[in-house]
Amino acid sequence: MNANVAADRAELAASTFLSRSHQLLIGGKWVPAASGATLEVLDPSTGKALAEIAAGGSAEVDAAVRAARRAFQAAPWAKLRATERARLLYRLADAVESRADEIAWLESLDGGNPIGSVRHVDIAMAIESLRTSASLADKITGETQLSAPQGEGVGYFLREPIGVAGLITPWNAPFLMAVNKIGPALAVGCTVVLKPAELAPLTALRLGELISEIGFPEGVVNIVTGLGPEAGQALSHHPDVNKISFTGSTRVGKSILAAAAGNMKRVTLELGGKSPIIVLPDADLERAANAIAQEICFKTGQFCAAGTRLLVHQSIHDELTERIAARMSSIKVGPGTAPGTQMGPIISQKQLDRVLGYIAAGSAQGAQIVSGGKRIDRDGFFVEPTLLVRASAGMSLMQDEVFGPVLGVSAFSDAGDLDHIATLANDTQYGLSAKLWTRDLRSAHQLARKLQAGQVIINGGGGDGRLPFGGFKQSGLGREGGREGALSFTEIKSVSIGY
Ligand code: NDP
Repeated sequence: MNANVAADRAELAASTFLSRSHQLLIGGKWVPAASGATLEVLDPSTGKALAEIAAGGSAEVDAAVRAARRAFQAAPWAKLRATERARLLYRLADAVESRADEIAWLESLDGGNPIGSVRHVDIAMAIESLRTSASLADKITGETQLSAPQGEGVGYFLREPIGVAGLITPWNAPFLMAVNKIGPALAVGCTVVLKPAELAPLTALRLGELISEIGFPEGVVNIVTGLGPEAGQALSHHPDVNKISFTGSTRVGKSILAAAAGNMKRVTLELGGKSPIIVLPDADLERAANAIAQEICFKTGQFCAAGTRLLVHQSIHDELTERIAARMSSIKVGPGTAPGTQMGPIISQKQLDRVLGYIAAGSAQGAQIVSGGKRIDRDGFFVEPTLLVRASAGMSLMQDEVFGPVLGVSAFSDAGDLDHIATLANDTQYGLSAKLWTRDLRSAHQLARKLQAGQVIINGGGGDGRLPFGGFKQSGLGREGGREGALSFTEIKSVSIGY
């Protein structure tokens, strides 16, 4: 099909979705909030209303949890063989793939990210993630061992589905985050209640439609849109939820951990980051500059694992920062669905103000803006990609998760003192990801060991969604992705049998 025709069809399908009313998926039915309350969803590229969603609260969360519990305990879901769960997940992956352009269009409108990157990164990864989950469904097993030397018995352990899982997702990669949680939970036999972020909830609702269409039993997947402090909080406090899987800010992650103590819910938290990028003098500067500039503009910097603190050896500082500044200032900024856009808007006015606040604070504290630094004068929530040099470790810019296209740079002098370099890199409360550029294998391996991060990316190594992902320190608890992610939705039960 001609690319323009495909784009027109995707846009039309997305508009058809937008024209429908957006309700809550509870027990297999689409229903409004009992109060009739709704929330407006804005297009961040214009600041204008895009859609209205139902504002669910504690009553709707309770109904959704009860539906999920019924589905968990009863046929058909409770009796379904693992291979049948896999078959449903493969069908969901196929359904998403056949509507990938439409979903990408919708997500690009809702979150503002460039349509090409949404289609070829987020949606492509979501399809792969669903297929990975499907492939794991019948491979999550326990182990057996002879429990006594004379063979008087046998012991084994089972991995059972944890039960009802509450899934709370953010707005920066809403479709992928929903799929990354729903897929493994269903693969192992759990049922779920998803609470998408109010700022970008639309593709999660579209996913809910596909889930209903392809034949998942009623109540296996429930979706309650609403405000975090209402619907999200009700879910994390609910006494009949066995696990919460949350992605978002460290602040809310802590409140979820506290709420989970009520009934000792299992918790997976994927939280914020302030990831260092270390560039040693022997690095390939052209490749490094391209990748660093591209990464800080990916999702307009609203990306938990983004490299946001550049630590560069002083001998290459000027050359590297000049190259990065040139790349950043050539990035085409615009609405996500506009042709040629390479970076979209920030998600909301509140987040834009926050980003501008960090740039102003960095500048006031002595960092020097060498590229960008300002709001872009047009409708919507746009900011220039911004590079600040002479940013020191104590600045808020170098400590807090800014969640915008803002890169702070600091230089170090002794390229051989890996302990000192690691100390600089580890000097925040976070530990999600760390990036390293060097051609020296010895330094690469030694630094990888010294960095306090759940992920170390050397020379731009491509991400693999099947690798475990999560944080050290205040970047989270537990891991998502691949087998580790699926295991996190199981409980272990040991069984000993005497002959
Ligand atoms: P939040 O952590 O507030 O939002 C993430 C999710 O949690 C959303 O679904 C939100 O709902 C929900 N939520 C909010 N409050 C509660 C609560 N009390 N109990 C349960 N759920 C809740 O992120 P923000 O949208 O406020 O963004 C602020 C900052 O968080 C960003 O600047 C960034 O630093 C960080 N962040 C990190 C992300 C990551 O990928 N690690 C993703 C998003 C944000 P709702 O949106 O409907 O209120």
